[in-house]
Amino acid sequence: SSCDHHECDHERPLKEVKNIIAVASGKGGVGKSTVAVNLAISLAREGAKVGLIDADLYGPSIPTMFGIYDAKPEIISKKLIPLEKYGIKLMSIGFLVETDTALIWRGPMASSAIKQFINDVEWPELDYLIFDLPPGTGDIQLTLVQTIPVTGAVIVTTPQDVALADVSKAVNMFRKMQVPILGLIENMSHYELPDGTKDYIFGMHGGENFAKAQAIAFLGSIPIDREIREGGDKGKPVVLSQPRSVSAQAFSQATKEV
Ligand code: ADP
Repeated sequence: SSCDHHECDHERPLKEVKNIIAVASGKGGVGKSTVAVNLAISLAREGAKVGLIDADLYGPSIPTMFGIYDAKPEIISKKLIPLEKYGIKLMSIGFLVETDTALIWRGPMASSAIKQFINDVEWPELDYLIFDLPPGTGDIQLTLVQTIPVTGAVIVTTPQDVALADVSKAVNMFRKMQVPILGLIENMSHYELPDGTKDYIFGMHGGENFAKAQAIAFLGSIPIDREIREGGDKGKPVVLSQPRSVSAQAFSQATKEV
């Protein structure tokens, strides 16, 4: 049909999805995937129907963070069926090819892979579909916002990343593309020492101050925490493995602000 733009509401892809959320960052390694995963699970724990797309084609981490090592999505009537774990519907390039192969995907192939994740996957009715984007402002981000109406973006930064100004570029891109910015999460805010004092390893309140200066809602601070790292590596994110921990509470609080 000629109606392949999102202005054509009845024909557009993902019309069964109420909210499309992009989780984005300026650079890699700030904990964007960790936030996307814990956000998705927190939403599901509140009773929402949630899907998660691993759009970080160069370095997919959803399979590891969900502890999915060799399951492959089924194909029914030419559509991929998302995998499901912890109540979340999941799709990742990591389920389809060897992770090393995913690393060499580039440019046009990446754009078409994202389109396939949108059009060729049998997404059910969902309250939230969360995109774990690659870091920065590349083709994948552009393809996403041009293909579907993104409800809003959640920006993840460390206090230090802000000083490097990469995160401003991501914010500016979404603004230029008229995607609302739902808010900013400051990850790796501080480390709590055994005596209870906080060590602001990457600087103090960098994310919070940046959010204020940019008139972006501040969704909360996530501490540096071994349980967060271990939860990701072991395939059981902290909001499930240690739901009462300070970190899990920080994630669920941030989720409520979205
Ligand atoms: P990104 O998606 O931004 O590249 P990841 O979510 O993959 O970053 O996180 C990078 C690494 O840092 C992972 O090993 C993850 O477990 C770890 N990590 C992320 N956030 C925290 C945190 N708050 N405390 C401890 N480790 C964290």
